[in-house]
Amino acid sequence: MPAEVLEQAAAEMLDWPDASGRSSGMGVMEMSHRGRAFGEILARAQTDFRSLMAVPENFHILFMQGGGAAQNAIVPLNLCGPSADTQAKADFVVTGGWSAKSLLEAGKYCQPHEAARSAAFRDIPDLATWRLHHGAAYVHLCSNETVHGVEFHTLPDLAALGCDAPLVIDCSSHIASRPLDWSRVGLAYAGAQKNLGPAGLTLVVVREDLLERALPACPSVFCYRELARHDSMVNTPPTFGIYMAGLVFQWLLRQGGIAAMEQRNIAKAQALYAAIDASDLFYNPVDPACRSRMNVPFFLRVPERTDAFLVSAEAAGLLQLKGHKSLGGLRASLYNAMPMEGVQTLISLMREFERTQA
Ligand SMILES: *Cc1c(COP(=O)(O)O)cnc(C)c1O
Repeated sequence: MPAEVLEQAAAEMLDWPDASGRSSGMGVMEMSHRGRAFGEILARAQTDFRSLMAVPENFHILFMQGGGAAQNAIVPLNLCGPSADTQAKADFVVTGGWSAKSLLEAGKYCQPHEAARSAAFRDIPDLATWRLHHGAAYVHLCSNETVHGVEFHTLPDLAALGCDAPLVIDCSSHIASRPLDWSRVGLAYAGAQKNLGPAGLTLVVVREDLLERALPACPSVFCYRELARHDSMVNTPPTFGIYMAGLVFQWLLRQGGIAAMEQRNIAKAQALYAAIDASDLFYNPVDPACRSRMNVPFFLRVPERTDAFLVSAEAAGLLQLKGHKSLGGLRASLYNAMPMEGVQTLISLMREFERTQA
């Protein structure tokens, strides 16, 4: 989270001022979600996100709960109908741990099919090798694999591959870090806690024509059509999360928007990968063509020194660098709120550690 946003939230915790600076006499957590004050917060968050990410008018912006993982069930529940008579097929491109999970969960609601899979989750299989089903309800991929550090730098043009199914992307860990080509996407979802705000909020952006495909068993509170119709308020939405994400959107706009953010993210990632590649001690195994700008897994060629590096890092104020439990090693997450200075501090520490302690 940007410090500026946390400071603003702290200042407004007991008394939220409206756009004209007028006191509302209550904090956001104390507001009725149907009241005028929260209505203003919700509307502004939607408008700001639409303008930030250039979301076309034929897409709905929905605020949901359940996290990114819940969408692994919610997507098939919404896209595999409207008839429950024959189980729909859906295609999955598996490039890491998250997309592998998506495929598994979808199997409860449809017939998932692995259209492509990268061998060691270090690259993206060539589009020419993808086996897409005719008549699939959707094609799913994870556009940034948070654990394995594999990112789609361009989204596939399914139409050009002869596929007319909508593309569904899990963009939880790189949403708002770069522009998104909506012409290639039917639905994008993101848990908020990586780049947008606190855990408990999930953002879903869905194309209008996909709202009528829900299975009869789809719960109303998870039904995109119902959510679109009721402005994300089928039940009480995650109000505080929406407010915080709204402050982050305002912060992003003040930074110069997504294009400016992307330039910073490119600079941060390039600096770190260059330092890793120049090192004899550290390495990153991902194909340079699809290395993630947000999540950089890296390893020591002397793995037994990993814990010592983490101790030095913590002493230098560099926290949470331990790699995901499934991979070990290290991982630096360079989300929007991470400044270049944080990356420079990490690079200096890596050089110092290699020189003196490896
Ligand atoms: C973090 C993450 C998720 C899971 O988010 P939850 O909110 O914990 O369900 C899903 N997909 C990706 C790519 C993630 O990075």
